[in-house]
Amino acid sequence: MSQFPDSPKQSASPAVRFFSGENIPLEMHKVRVVQKLNLPPVEERLAAIRRAGFNTFLLTTREVYLDMLTDSGTNAMSDMQMGAMMQADDAYAGSQSFERMRLAIEEVFGKRFVLPAHQGRAAENIICRTYVKPGDLLPMNYHFTTTLAHIELNGGKIAELLHDEALQISSSNPFKGNMDIAKLRHAITTHGVQNVPLIRMEASTNLIGGQPFSLANLREVAAVAKEHNIPLVLDASLIGENAWFIKQREPEFQQASVADILREMCAQADIVYFSSRKVSSSRGGAICTNWPEIFEKMKALIPLFEGFLTYGGMSMREIEAMAVGLRETTDETVINQSPMFIRYLVERLQAHGIPVVTPAGGLGCHVDAMSFLPHIPQKEYPAGALAAAFYLISGVRGMERGTISSTRDQHGHDILADVELLRLAFPRRVFTLSQTKYVEDRLHWLHTQRQLIGGLRFVEEPPVLRFFMGRLEAVSDWPEKLMQAFRRDFGDSL
Ligand SMILES: *Cc1c(COP(=O)(O)O)cnc(C)c1O
Repeated sequence: MSQFPDSPKQSASPAVRFFSGENIPLEMHKVRVVQKLNLPPVEERLAAIRRAGFNTFLLTTREVYLDMLTDSGTNAMSDMQMGAMMQADDAYAGSQSFERMRLAIEEVFGKRFVLPAHQGRAAENIICRTYVKPGDLLPMNYHFTTTLAHIELNGGKIAELLHDEALQISSSNPFKGNMDIAKLRHAITTHGVQNVPLIRMEASTNLIGGQPFSLANLREVAAVAKEHNIPLVLDASLIGENAWFIKQREPEFQQASVADILREMCAQADIVYFSSRKVSSSRGGAICTNWPEIFEKMKALIPLFEGFLTYGGMSMREIEAMAVGLRETTDETVINQSPMFIRYLVERLQAHGIPVVTPAGGLGCHVDAMSFLPHIPQKEYPAGALAAAFYLISGVRGMERGTISSTRDQHGHDILADVELLRLAFPRRVFTLSQTKYVEDRLHWLHTQRQLIGGLRFVEEPPVLRFFMGRLEAVSDWPEKLMQAFRRDFGDSL
């Protein structure tokens, strides 16, 4: 396996190599519209993170220099997308914009029937209402937060069937998102095929660090699904990056185009759904299939929850942008941008001895807070503390993916997360190399000062999804001490 992630074939760009031998992610686009950014001084950042209850979700973008919270709805738009938005055909029913989007989906994903939805979780609502009943079990490689919520809302449970090593922080496994086929067979047999309404595979598995599955594995899952007559559902929200990793890491597909890989991936699944917030940097989403009976089964729910069948809660401008964005997903110089920047940062941080999730994935760079801050017990939220500390000393906003994002058991004790991660998302074609080097520089400095960082405790804790709106405080005066160390080492620098 080790030949894959470190292979010299995986150059910085498929086309351009550097004389220096450095792995520099080269942009195949230029900037034509810009947004001014603001980097408030460290004293203001301390006041801001206090006001935000040490929760980066509660900062405003005015207080943030680089917003690496998420890639959702924050990828850069192309000139082609902006141009297409001007030809939006506003109509309640039968819009030509919808027809253009349907054709793009047919071309890129190879699926003829399209049900529009206003975003990914809305597609999940429609699918789960149709297929999931109390007592059902849904096998999947790994859950996504909104998917799990919709399955549980309809009385179902999930079985997460990754290979055991997929949750190891440091690994050379090129396909951590693969499903363990033996576990899948076991889950179907023990739960009863009649209680397994769907099998779900998620491309670039989000919550384990944007990690891909292989096409060989997807084909095996599809074979088991077919053998048991269970529909296979593909969550294609992050499919472009997964296809690019397949081309990079799976020998059978080295010569294939990303467009061919995308169609081959979708061909394995009976139902493909996606959040266009990730796929194409527009808004919206859709459910697609080639089976008329599957289309008919869900059709009636679209006007009820989303809107008429030719808009599904989206504006025509969003639909036009989605059509163009889907086609751009097949362009390697577009789709390789986030993975290349992520790999660059991961390699630079490793060179400084900073613990990160490897191999580099497709969504963001994930810093391992548990080994960054071994002196902070999990009940004092090391990933949350690292996210707050990093914002304080850099103005860069990441997302906590650890115990704060978890919940409590019936005795009121925290259910400790498997991993404590600070996620630094790389929305597609948004940040430059010098901004990426700034992130590297500030994280490097923070690592040398890590003993100064202390824990957090809740002061306001919502009962559900506490990570969105919860407020915390520092367990000591560590934020002031960290700010003083910053001033000592950086003088009057921002
Ligand atoms: C974001 C995401 C969703 C949900 O999509 P929304 O548009 O945010 O509702 C579902 N699945 C995956 C894998 C995602 O990344």
